[in-house]
Amino acid sequence: MKKEPDIDPRGIQSDGSPEACPVCSGGDILEFFCLRGVPTQDGAMWPTRNEALHAPVGDIVLVYCRSCQYIWNRAHDAGHITFDRYDFSMQSSPAFQHFVHNLSRRLVSTYHLQGKMIVDIGCGDGHFLGTLCRMGGNTGLGIDPGHTPQRDGSSDVHYVKEYYSDRHAAHPGDFVSCRHVLNAISDPVGFTTLIRRTMNGNTRSTFYMEVPNAACNFDGTLVWNVAYEHRSWFTAASIRALLSRTGFRVIGVRPTWGGEYLSVEAVPSAGDGKRHTRPDRKFERTLAAFAGTYERKVRSVQKKLDSISRGGIRTAIWGAGARALTLLSVCDLHASALRIVDINPRRQGMHLPRSGYRVWAPESLREFRPDLVIISNPRFAPEIRSQARALGIKGRFFVL
Ligand SMILES: [Zn+2]
Repeated sequence: MKKEPDIDPRGIQSDGSPEACPVCSGGDILEFFCLRGVPTQDGAMWPTRNEALHAPVGDIVLVYCRSCQYIWNRAHDAGHITFDRYDFSMQSSPAFQHFVHNLSRRLVSTYHLQGKMIVDIGCGDGHFLGTLCRMGGNTGLGIDPGHTPQRDGSSDVHYVKEYYSDRHAAHPGDFVSCRHVLNAISDPVGFTTLIRRTMNGNTRSTFYMEVPNAACNFDGTLVWNVAYEHRSWFTAASIRALLSRTGFRVIGVRPTWGGEYLSVEAVPSAGDGKRHTRPDRKFERTLAAFAGTYERKVRSVQKKLDSISRGGIRTAIWGAGARALTLLSVCDLHASALRIVDINPRRQGMHLPRSGYRVWAPESLREFRPDLVIISNPRFAPEIRSQARALGIKGRFFVL
């Protein structure tokens, strides 16, 4: 990991000069949100309760560059993030499997991915790469320090448990993908430049990138997802500016997964070096109002929980990701007993940072018998309700 520049949360660098945007070097910066002492990771759980209780915490101090729309946490410390046992896979969910299947089908068809070499940077469990390879008869290379092999692994896909680096330039790939990595990386310019450099050996290849959609997270829809792990947030304009600056020509940027993600397709090019975008005053106003939006959202959920759970009831949270962690940090659940469950088997038996709660399999709710099931991610609500009913759970549901 590259060492973070020495910047304090007030935006003053160690030499006393004002902070510049790490993407465009612009100095017209707006600080718009601050949250102190939150767990630094939600994609990595802890094997023991004791380790979880002492998990690192950090501050979120979000700033926005008016020149290129890049948003970053200026208090982010890459030393608090590990990818070695990182697992945010949602492939156990039928809805997410459907999403990955449709995405793969579109990419195979659009880019004629048949008999090609595919490189997936930050491949996680390899679900996406494996699907692309199976669908088009492609061969694949998955690179991820936290890769955990799947039972349905194909012999045409090779995985290396490493951080992505220039060493992988020997495999430039006909198609290179990188999903939900850029937002956690300390140096987005350096990282995309590295990808561009390793693609030099095959300039006819296509680059596919997916990142969380900043617009969707700051308009009040998804406040629970604003977590420390995100060093960077991108809008369609700022991801275009970043890729253009680092030697790509962007073919398209589209919202996907209900608008929560941005799906970006690009090809290597000489790049125009353009760093700036047109000012977006409306988005700027949304960000300026975000601290209030966040507070109102938390207050409104607390009010609902007060009315549902006052007096203490048996409560389960279904989904042990960022949203559950945020909920536990900012709301009082009034639970007489609390159980966290997750459908991802690799999360089960692990512990949540700081609160130390153990993550259980959903089946454990049969004997736990919750009065209330909090669904942390609305996109999974239909399948969770149906899975919960199949387990005989009679309690009520509350969708975050
Ligand atoms: Zn900028």
